[in-house]
Amino acid sequence: MITVVEPQQHIAKLWSEPALKEGTLYRLMHYVLRVEDGCTVLLHNVVTGHLVALEQQEAEMLGRLPAMYCPAMEPLIQSHFVVPADYDEHAQTIKLQTVLRMLTKAQQKPDITHYTILPTTACNARCYYCFQQGLKRTTMSDEIIHQVADFINAHCGNDRKVRISWFGGEPTIAARQISTICEELQKKNIMYRSSMTTNGYLFDQKMTETAVDLWKLKYVMISVDGTEKNYNSIKRFQNAKDNPYQRVMGNVERLLEHGIRVSMRMNFDLNNYLDFFDLLDDVSERFHGSPLFFFHVHQVNGEHEDSFGKKEHGKNEWFQDKLLEYQELVHEKGLYPLNEELPELNFKGCQASNDHSVTINPQGGISRCPELVSDEDLIGTVREGITNPALISAWSKPSDFDKCVECPLFPNCMKLHLCPASHRCVAKKESLTRFQNAMKKHYRSFSRSIQKGG
Ligand code: SF4
Ligand code: SF4
Repeated sequence: MITVVEPQQHIAKLWSEPALKEGTLYRLMHYVLRVEDGCTVLLHNVVTGHLVALEQQEAEMLGRLPAMYCPAMEPLIQSHFVVPADYDEHAQTIKLQTVLRMLTKAQQKPDITHYTILPTTACNARCYYCFQQGLKRTTMSDEIIHQVADFINAHCGNDRKVRISWFGGEPTIAARQISTICEELQKKNIMYRSSMTTNGYLFDQKMTETAVDLWKLKYVMISVDGTEKNYNSIKRFQNAKDNPYQRVMGNVERLLEHGIRVSMRMNFDLNNYLDFFDLLDDVSERFHGSPLFFFHVHQVNGEHEDSFGKKEHGKNEWFQDKLLEYQELVHEKGLYPLNEELPELNFKGCQASNDHSVTINPQGGISRCPELVSDEDLIGTVREGITNPALISAWSKPSDFDKCVECPLFPNCMKLHLCPASHRCVAKKESLTRFQNAMKKHYRSFSRSIQKGG
């Protein structure tokens, strides 16, 4: 067994070497990814981060698993690639995640340095899949704006540096509110930079300049769900004075010219998936070569009626296949960088379980997840501070589905029990393929460095 990437030391310390048991039946650990690169079998342990290339004898032994103990298994048993048939790696992984979470928490400062702010829940578009349908449309009052700035001032810590994600609704409808919050932060000597999830429709020259100078906007995520006809009928902008598709594309160009990174996202389902190819060609022609432009696809979630009155957006398996196919085409066009990182044990989860991050709704309510901002989701308010520790602790609980117990990605794919999307599993095929490609890349670069060295 040749080590290509060393296991992570902090995990090796917590997961001691197992005793070798003669007369025991052994099998491959569930959380091991396997791929062949030519004649070489590569294994990656998703818990420990260890990537190895097998000797021929080991590869043959692997093909015979489950099998009784034999000496050829020893290195693989000691590195937790092969485990006794009755071993519970699911429980062991959860134990490791819990310990690592507790250790990290004990070392953390209590500062809140990331704020997702919804200056409004109103929107100028009417996408049928919007998860905020039914939410009361409100915009932040001046009183709440001041309280938001005071809350940030009280919680940003001695470094006085924060990151703001503007979210909505459509945040640009509340441009005045965003500007006032930024001015308040400047008065309080708080440094900030921001990102925004937006439909991009209102980003004219003046707003773009304000975004650069005052909002310190570095990154925007803009959803464009098809080419002109599809896009305009999905977005259904209210009071649109021109062609929204062309306008948004022009605004994207302007944002890029002003040094703002743009990640364009096509939300797709059965309604619009065939339009992907034309949209990819169009954005490739317009923005290819810009180092600040990225394009990616995402499945439509939820049970909302589309423009044909259909509620069935696509089965899980269909989304998995499409996501894999589309992401590969996007990579081929060079519109999204290939992530070559190997999967590792994730114990942090998303921002909703991060104590350094909060979401603030237009009424000043504080929640953990930007998609859950109603009264029952609040952990406090900007006026009273954090008042619901029970809900905070509930947010740290991971989800646990039967389908995940033997999935090789389980240690990396940490989802939260309270997450409204935790039951979804659409990226599995795409992730598996990406990780297996990453294993090969690591191995090839390792082999090259050995050849050079030798
Ligand atoms: S959600 Fe899907 S990818 Fe994640 S662990 Fe479960 S089965 Fe695997
Ligand atoms: S929707 Fe789920 S994954 Fe997204 S921030 Fe909320 S809890 Fe996290």
